[in-house]
Amino acid sequence: MKTNRRNFVKTVGIASLGAVISGSVYGSVPQIKRSGKMKLSYKIYELQLKHTFTVSGFSRTTTPVVLTEIEYDGLVGYGEASMPPYLGETQKSVIKFLKKVKLGQFNDPFMTDDILEYVDAIDTKNRAAKASVDIALHDLIGKIVNQPLYKLWGFNPKNTPVTSFTIGIDKPDIVRIKTKEAKRFKVLKVKLGGGNDKEMINTIRSITDVPLYVDVNQGWKDKKLALDMIFWLKEKGIEFIEQPMPKTKIDEMAWLTENSPLPTIADEAFQRLSDIANFKGVYSGINIKLMKSTGLREAHKMITVARAMDMKVMIGCMTETSCAVSAAAQLSPIVDWADLDGNLLISNDIYKGMTVVKGKVTLNNLPGIGIKKL
Ligand code: MG
Repeated sequence: MKTNRRNFVKTVGIASLGAVISGSVYGSVPQIKRSGKMKLSYKIYELQLKHTFTVSGFSRTTTPVVLTEIEYDGLVGYGEASMPPYLGETQKSVIKFLKKVKLGQFNDPFMTDDILEYVDAIDTKNRAAKASVDIALHDLIGKIVNQPLYKLWGFNPKNTPVTSFTIGIDKPDIVRIKTKEAKRFKVLKVKLGGGNDKEMINTIRSITDVPLYVDVNQGWKDKKLALDMIFWLKEKGIEFIEQPMPKTKIDEMAWLTENSPLPTIADEAFQRLSDIANFKGVYSGINIKLMKSTGLREAHKMITVARAMDMKVMIGCMTETSCAVSAAAQLSPIVDWADLDGNLLISNDIYKGMTVVKGKVTLNNLPGIGIKKL
């Protein structure tokens, strides 16, 4: 028996080796060049919003971004930092950070742990700036092996969720127009907390009966009023409540989550992986965004940790081009909910990437984060 097994292994081993040498098992084996140096470049860009965007607290018509590229052996990985004003980063702060990033010291882009730990250690905060390097690096390594990231991670692209489209706080006639415009989406995310919550929901419900997500952006200050509102919302077909109360109200939030008939999701209350440890019993789930997580590497870890804590996972975005949105979409096959509409809210996108087909996040076969320049 022993002899037979050894002979079998020997035969298979030789056969496999021969097949790889001749290229008959995998087709032509890719020759990966790792001799070059990575070169990071960046430029500022201003996203124009299709509609004035109003959430609990402020309004705006543009979003500043910084677009990054990492060039290596003739390939270019694309990245992006998006800076909605409330997150504290600016184009100036991002450029200042990126000037300190010296990728030339690394000659192997696949050493993502080493490279991104180095980038993270350059300075505290600067999360969007760090994400712009992380996204470009992931895009680059996908392009080197000529595969989309979701394939490298082993995710089934059929498992992508539907994405919601966001309706901001506005007067009923505008809300009606926006809701009609969003009819290709199978779920809407409604911003509440502006003092006209029931009017917002009733207006949308006069147009459509699709499921709704609600995002209060910390707008409710009283936990009992918040709970009453959540019971009312449940009857209106709402699926979950994102950041109902101020992020500092941890005890009130735990009480609300314990009594709420709908899941509660943390957004403003956390940024990075280490923040999630405090959320057991405080929120039912988390909304991960690449501009908070410093990019794909940490976002992927966040999903694993949240699952271990039996928490729901949503992946969201800022107003961004198709670059950062398509990067986030690579993780979407393993989340519960997606809110990946940031590229659809702008009128001057410069990339084409993931698409929304029949309301569903739809990944393509392009390598890396799956985008092309328009
Ligand atoms: Mg939110």
